[in-house]
Amino acid sequence: MKKRLGIEIVDNFLSSGESIEYGSRSFFQFSVQKKLLEEMDFNNYVKYINNYEVFVKSWIQTRLFERYRETGGLKELEGVVLATIMKKIQDTLESSECQDALTVSEFLDHFCQAMCKELVISKDSLEVILFKNTASVGQFSADLQTFLPQVEESTLSEWEELSGEMVFTQLQFKPQDEIFKRVFGCGKQCPFCNVPCEAGGSDHKEHFASVHRPQGLGRYRDETSKRLIYSLCSSDVVSSMLFRNLHTAFQWHPYKDYRQFYPAWRIQPDPSISASDYWKFIFRKFNHQFAKEYKADPADLPTEWKKITEKQALQSIREAFNME
Ligand SMILES: [Zn+2]
Ligand SMILES: [Zn+2]
Repeated sequence: MKKRLGIEIVDNFLSSGESIEYGSRSFFQFSVQKKLLEEMDFNNYVKYINNYEVFVKSWIQTRLFERYRETGGLKELEGVVLATIMKKIQDTLESSECQDALTVSEFLDHFCQAMCKELVISKDSLEVILFKNTASVGQFSADLQTFLPQVEESTLSEWEELSGEMVFTQLQFKPQDEIFKRVFGCGKQCPFCNVPCEAGGSDHKEHFASVHRPQGLGRYRDETSKRLIYSLCSSDVVSSMLFRNLHTAFQWHPYKDYRQFYPAWRIQPDPSISASDYWKFIFRKFNHQFAKEYKADPADLPTEWKKITEKQALQSIREAFNME
């Protein structure tokens, strides 16, 4: 049940109409950034920027809670999963291998072989059955069958006692992980600005993002002034600027040669690309809070960034994610 229910939830959720935003990466990215903009909660931005994968997975999880709490659909799915397992047990008990078994021990061997993928059966518990059992195979199989509806009922009621949240913590197979993998693939973030990789699937060799973010959002600062910087990775990799961090053992290193440390990233060298209005707006809005959070001084942002409105910010992500 713990294994199966998670898979059932993923299939059910992704095939439902409401999950349209999970249908494409750009639609989902757009929805998340739009919601963040509406909520304007600084802490959410910090989580989203610095720990994209964790943030997105818990976002998906919340959506799953909401959906299954509102529709009560979780109980239905539990019923479906359990009924499938019960059917398999019934079929196995009626199969010729089990029916023709000469001893209870042989019967149990066949039964376990057929059911090992579905059920967690321990050897110990079986030996106890064998030790105590003197019935014929036919009698034993019939006993099991009469007992099944009771097992089904009590398992279902055990699960029904759990709240929605508890059900999710019980699952071995986490639906939010699978949905993340299916919809987002990679989830890796740029080592400088933290923008998530846009390449599809999980088998690509190089990580890529069309527009990087002002690096101060990813904690980068000017060493002398201590101010957060707002330049883009795409400009810095064609500049003569240097960077240092944990990966360079805090030794200075030219941005140009970033691939020496980050060979999996391909940052297009293009000084003409500018930051999106969205991130300009957010950086300006929370400049002081980011500085405090990252233990730096606020960035000295260009004055024209101050003119950007929330509406323009929203418009810029609409365009970026082709949501017109
Ligand atoms: Zn970047
Ligand atoms: Zn990637």
